[in-house]
Amino acid sequence: MAALAAQWRKENKTVGLVPTMGALHAGHISLVDYAKAECDIAVASVFVNPSQFGPNEDFDKYPRTEAADIEKLEAAHCDVAFIPSPAEMYPEGFCTWVNVTAAPADRLEGKLRPIHFQGVATVVLKLFNLAQATKAYFGQKDFQQVQVVKRMVKDLNVPIEIVRCPIVREPEGLAISSRNRYMSAAETEEALCLSRALKKAKELAQTGEYTVAQIADVMREIVSEPKDASVDYAILVEGENLDPVPETDVVKPELWQDKELVALLAVRIGSTRLIDNAVLL
Ligand code: AMP
Repeated sequence: MAALAAQWRKENKTVGLVPTMGALHAGHISLVDYAKAECDIAVASVFVNPSQFGPNEDFDKYPRTEAADIEKLEAAHCDVAFIPSPAEMYPEGFCTWVNVTAAPADRLEGKLRPIHFQGVATVVLKLFNLAQATKAYFGQKDFQQVQVVKRMVKDLNVPIEIVRCPIVREPEGLAISSRNRYMSAAETEEALCLSRALKKAKELAQTGEYTVAQIADVMREIVSEPKDASVDYAILVEGENLDPVPETDVVKPELWQDKELVALLAVRIGSTRLIDNAVLL
């Protein structure tokens, strides 16, 4: 990867990187499409990064579908599939970590999954360096992740542009995720409550008549409906740092013209943990 990147640099080629953990789906491929449209070379990395999984998380059972992933990347005309091994990425003696120590990393996912963003920031910086990428493409699906990566890039003066791409959904609304395959057909049906709640939140926000607490309560009610659901959070935040917004504030479009108001959901359906979000204003 480094040798290819050095060659591209000599040829003055721009490189678009799409970091993934594989089990590729239409969401990942949409990122490859953006990279291809905007850069000379598109690189997709496939790496199930052990350092971003907690001890009780799904690292061992995370789907690994390398042959199918390569086929999908070929079909999308992705120029390079970079598929390193854990031993290559974390060789003996590895001991340098990137930590985003405050906002936007220290809350929500960062609180519930304590080492998660350290693992993400570290592996992503390694991938940026290996591919010498001009731009890197991330899905809005992992909203907090994009903001953490942007913070890291700014703080460490990493010469790369981070591009946030829209969430790709199933026709019924479910955000596509590699983890959706853990769910039964009945659970998949129940999981539609997430996109339903976000759609409702957006409608309410646009009326200019509801408070932050009222909108969050309506979302929480909707995602609590399925009997197998348990809600980690259903919250409205300011988009850059994911700071909470005062509960009694009335949500008015004119107050959110130069910042984003974002609704974030993390909900377990049975044993599958799903996240989803929407920019409300
Ligand atoms: P993952 O393989 O789950 O780590 O995801 C790799 C990248 O794909 C991340 O930037 C995700 O945000 C992005 N991604 C995952 N699902 C979707 C989706 N449904 N729509 C758009 N991007 C997505």
